[in-house]
Amino acid sequence: MGMESAYVIVGASLAGAKAAETLREEGFEGPVVLIGDEQERPYERPPLSKGYLMGKTAREKIHVHSPEWYKEHSIDLRLGTTVTAVDLAAHRVTLADGSSIGFGRLLLTTGASPRRLQVPGADRENVCYLRRVEDSDRIQAFLRPGARVAVIGAGWIGMETASAAREAGCEVTVLGRSELPLLGALGREAARVFADLHRDHGVELRFGVQVTEITEHGVRLGDGTLVEADAVIVGIGVTPNTRLAAAAGLRVDNGVLTDQHLQSSHPDVFAAGDVVNAFHPLYDRPIRVEHWANALHQPRTAARSMLGEEAVHDRVPYFFTDQYELGMEYTGYIEPGGYDRVVFRGDVPGREFIAFWLSRDRVLAGMNVNIWDVTDAIRDLVRSGRPVDPDALADPDTPLDRTGRPQQG
Ligand SMILES: Cc1cc2nc3c(=O)[nH]c(=O)nc-3n(C[C@H](O)[C@H](O)[C@H](O)COP(=O)(O)OP(=O)(O)OC[C@H]3O[C@@H](n4cnc5c(N)ncnc54)[C@H](O)[C@@H]3O)c2cc1C
Repeated sequence: MGMESAYVIVGASLAGAKAAETLREEGFEGPVVLIGDEQERPYERPPLSKGYLMGKTAREKIHVHSPEWYKEHSIDLRLGTTVTAVDLAAHRVTLADGSSIGFGRLLLTTGASPRRLQVPGADRENVCYLRRVEDSDRIQAFLRPGARVAVIGAGWIGMETASAAREAGCEVTVLGRSELPLLGALGREAARVFADLHRDHGVELRFGVQVTEITEHGVRLGDGTLVEADAVIVGIGVTPNTRLAAAAGLRVDNGVLTDQHLQSSHPDVFAAGDVVNAFHPLYDRPIRVEHWANALHQPRTAARSMLGEEAVHDRVPYFFTDQYELGMEYTGYIEPGGYDRVVFRGDVPGREFIAFWLSRDRVLAGMNVNIWDVTDAIRDLVRSGRPVDPDALADPDTPLDRTGRPQQG
């Protein structure tokens, strides 16, 4: 089969590697070219702010596949290679060295990149972002007992990094714009749990602040105060890497727009992972999910769709975090403010509970904190959309599948 029939995957991270794996599992025998601009073969990012950052997870443990796997499965893995353009009419991708590769079908798994801080001094050498393994290495070098670390941004990356820095014995200050960490993701009720968790571990949380400058001494705030810091870690969100897709003329809106089969506005181009804003049948609209489980599962659907199979991505979104001794899983999807009530089941101060986000007595999402093996039950509640009895939901003795609202009459 010629290269014009190759299945080309742009972006060699979790989503790209899983798509290549599925193509082979599904029996595709043609050329598969997996192109990534990083030097490292595909790896998982969650350890970069957790075990790997803390020196507990070895580098060999983070990769998606062994080097041999790519050879054994005839995956043409091209690392350190940037795709600079996609020509849809010619069915070719152009590489940074000017060469090009033809494709029969193309998958975009270009992921997302950290938003950059736009203040004077943001380019100082002690200002760090966290996306790639070398970023994690760089941050780790700063995490020494007594080092002063300022974390800008109180989202998942910021809070996980704060936790790793505290465990390394650093003095940590988290600076956030809103009044609580993770407020956008969790809402006020559950965000408080994470604020308390970090305070209990000695992190200084400063909220409602505006960063105006990074100086040689630390972070300057809008009120003129200086937060002294040896290292500044910036975690203020990511933006999807849609430049290639947009320049090629694909439909892009907060990610590459696709249908539920993960097919883009061009029939031979597909997208998966952080970069895709995919129509989701359960929510009846496109959603973009920046989480590991999405980058694990979506490429399977995309690869099967590329092969002409009838595949649909309709999984309920899921993510997890680990901070200090708190482990949690979150199942569901809510836009900020999209719920009317939060019900807790279990011991919230003891950090062993499940939180449910409800809208008109239907469960939109559930978060289990230090309680395990309940994800399937939570997913069923979310997927079924059936009305629940909030009192039964709050009662740890009522099985989750018996929390339905009693029938009338
Ligand atoms: C530090 C960290 C911790 C995380 N922790 C968690 C967690 O605890 N739980 C959770 O659910 N999620 C977590 N996530 C999110 C999760 O890792 C991402 O959702 C996942 O990595 C997305 O995978 P992806 O393959 O879609 O994109 P990415 O991982 O972003 O990979 C895209 C790849 O494509 C490459 N690329 C882009 N453009 C081009 C081009 N033009 N040419 C060639 N290559 C290109 C990029 O360099 C990159 O290598 C974490 C993320 C980070 C950064």
